Amino acid sequence: DTTHGRILYTEDVSVSFDGFRAINKLSLDIAPGELRCIIGPNGAGKTTMMDIITGKTKPDAGTVFFGSTIDLLRYKEPQIAQLGIGRKFQKPTVFEQLTVYVNLELALKTDKGVKASMFFRPDSEQSDRLAEVLRTIQLADSVDRLAGNLSHGQKQWLEIGMLLMQDPKLLLLDEPVAGMTDEETARTAELFLTLKGQHSLLVVEHDMSFIKTISEKVTVLHEGSVLAEGTLEQVQNDERVIEVYLGR
Ligand code: ADP
Repeated sequence: DTTHGRILYTEDVSVSFDGFRAINKLSLDIAPGELRCIIGPNGAGKTTMMDIITGKTKPDAGTVFFGSTIDLLRYKEPQIAQLGIGRKFQKPTVFEQLTVYVNLELALKTDKGVKASMFFRPDSEQSDRLAEVLRTIQLADSVDRLAGNLSHGQKQWLEIGMLLMQDPKLLLLDEPVAGMTDEETARTAELFLTLKGQHSLLVVEHDMSFIKTISEKVTVLHEGSVLAEGTLEQVQNDERVIEVYLGR
């Protein structure tokens, strides 16, 4: 339900580890179809923020809503994934010994809760989705290649494709272009711009030129809360952001 114009809403979220406040009154508002970049120095709380959204970490205080009606704090991590929140960690985790096609097919099976089986055949709707995802991630020519033989960038796109097989409403991506060539980075920007609109994307990234290509709105995290928000140009010219990054 996105009637109130938001897919994700957090208010005053805090969490401490051994008395250290990793997230401190964090408030975020992500619109349906938005492509939001999150930046911030090491230790700012970016990973912990994603852990909270995906249910891996439960906050000590605050509100986390998916759409306007789903209170995410009432759900456990696997249920949150089922609700339509997909997460991609930094390193690719595809099945290297299996083909591109089978990797995507396996992503379907887990969605349906069907135990991996050699007798599984996707129905026609699932086959259509698989073909569409293959086109979206630009691997339609590589269906029979082993995932282990793909380039680093292609592995990352395949894993994004595996998430897309579950048709998530919100995708969380941790440094998706780290280690990519310039060309792969450019193609990833195209991919994200294609996904935007149909999905909301929350992207943690350090590559400023990549952010410049893809993002209308950037959130700067610092010491567990939002330090600044706006276009990349706005936040880069923000005195507080400059201080944090240059340590002045
Ligand atoms: P970022 O991803 O922005 O680098 P993190 O979310 O990983 O930041 O970490 C924020 C702060 O919380 C860091 O100081 C980190 O050491 C601390 N932290 C994160 N997770 C834990 C944990 N499970 N136990 C103790 N400290 C943690």
